[in-house]
Amino acid sequence: MPDDRYNFAGKKVLIMGLGRFGGGVDCAEFAARAGAKVTVTDSAPAEKLSDSINKLKEFPDIEFHLGSHDPADFRQADIIIANPAVPDDNKFLEIARRNNKFITSQINIFFELCPAQIVGITGANGKSTTTALTAHLLKAMRDEGRWTRDVWLSGNIGNQPLLTILDKIKADDLVVLELSSFQLESLAQIAKAPKVALLTNLTPNHLDRHGTFENYCAAKENIFKHQELNDNSPAVSIFNAEDKIAAEWFEKFNKDTGRICIRFSTDDVSKEIRDSFILPGRANLSNLAAAIAISKHFGIDDEQIKKSLPEFKPLPHRLEFVAEINGVSWYNDSIATTPQSAIAALEAFEQPKIIIAGGYDKNLPFDELGQKIAAGAKAAVLLGQTAPKIASAIRKTQDSRHKTHVEFVDSLAKAVQSAERFAESGDVVLLSPACASYDMFENFQHRGQEFTKLVKSLNK
Ligand code: ADP
Repeated sequence: MPDDRYNFAGKKVLIMGLGRFGGGVDCAEFAARAGAKVTVTDSAPAEKLSDSINKLKEFPDIEFHLGSHDPADFRQADIIIANPAVPDDNKFLEIARRNNKFITSQINIFFELCPAQIVGITGANGKSTTTALTAHLLKAMRDEGRWTRDVWLSGNIGNQPLLTILDKIKADDLVVLELSSFQLESLAQIAKAPKVALLTNLTPNHLDRHGTFENYCAAKENIFKHQELNDNSPAVSIFNAEDKIAAEWFEKFNKDTGRICIRFSTDDVSKEIRDSFILPGRANLSNLAAAIAISKHFGIDDEQIKKSLPEFKPLPHRLEFVAEINGVSWYNDSIATTPQSAIAALEAFEQPKIIIAGGYDKNLPFDELGQKIAAGAKAAVLLGQTAPKIASAIRKTQDSRHKTHVEFVDSLAKAVQSAERFAESGDVVLLSPACASYDMFENFQHRGQEFTKLVKSLNK
């Protein structure tokens, strides 16, 4: 039975954190449609949030309190829907808690009210690709008439907002969600997790928010810890056998009854299936192995996978081919916001490489990336806050056999010019920043679009 606290009609609902990624808009819309009296608050001023505010134009009764938070809002509301990026010890949430307010989140509302089975995918890297691949393979079952279930793709992947699709989802459908560590922390508060859960891999990320790698791992582990164990209808927990922590967790969770544990590895992917897969690199092969493990649980066979894979449309900004100019191939991997994902990008190509990297500092370690660049790239063009840290990681490991050329620039335009000067026919130039983009761009999409524009203009 859904909890009556999730019936918003007539209640005063405060949306904390409108943001620019659609989550706040989705919550405000959902609450307004449910008949709530909605107030939206964000510490950012209206100028920075204009896109999100415009999306709520059709709800003239929504009030906006922007530029700062007012404690009074947190005392007066019946329900607070907090953005998952807001830490739990936030002082305004403390006020709400002291006043016995119901604090919830977009993902918690979704899990409470979704009538269908949920497949959840998390990990440090490869979440979006794995989620999109999984949904693609499962949707093909429906398109081929092999089952009648509709398949929904949502979550952190940011295409269809969670609460907007909620009332269209039927009990027999399947929902495939990308889940971030923030969302999993939020779900842990209501002890919920997806029926089918998968971990791609775990390496340090978001340490600016989680503090330590242990805390980050603990947030991710919630995806398995809170699965409902049931002997008649077991929870399904899927782990990457080639990832150290995932492999340890397999051993640990495999002891439970009421749960089926499955391991996947790139060795499981047959040669024929590899040949029908267009995404470059070993990391993507691991993502494919993950998607296949889920698909097989739902009864999809190799034939079906082989047939539908070639139709998979790559996600933008993820090792996305931009252009070949004078024999040099340019790739946009702007989504690579961790050292690990930039390492994966470097590993994806055999050719001589020039990497454009650097950006906002999330306090992640660059030593391994530095080694990889020193050993595997002919040049590194560095920009943004982290440029000096990456340069020193490269130099630390640099020996006389490998001499990676390191160059600092202060804009993406200069980075592209510099890479062009350095590149020779047969090389790959890779924008794979290893860092978030907030120091110079609105977000990774903006950075990727700028890069694509700059590269395409080289052709003229
Ligand atoms: P996420 O949603 O976890 O950020 P994406 O699927 O969007 O992951 O991929 C982001 C970037 O991370 C890719 O461009 C690629 O360079 C890298 N990447 C993708 N899959 C993996 C993986 N399995 N292991 C390591 N890096 C990966």
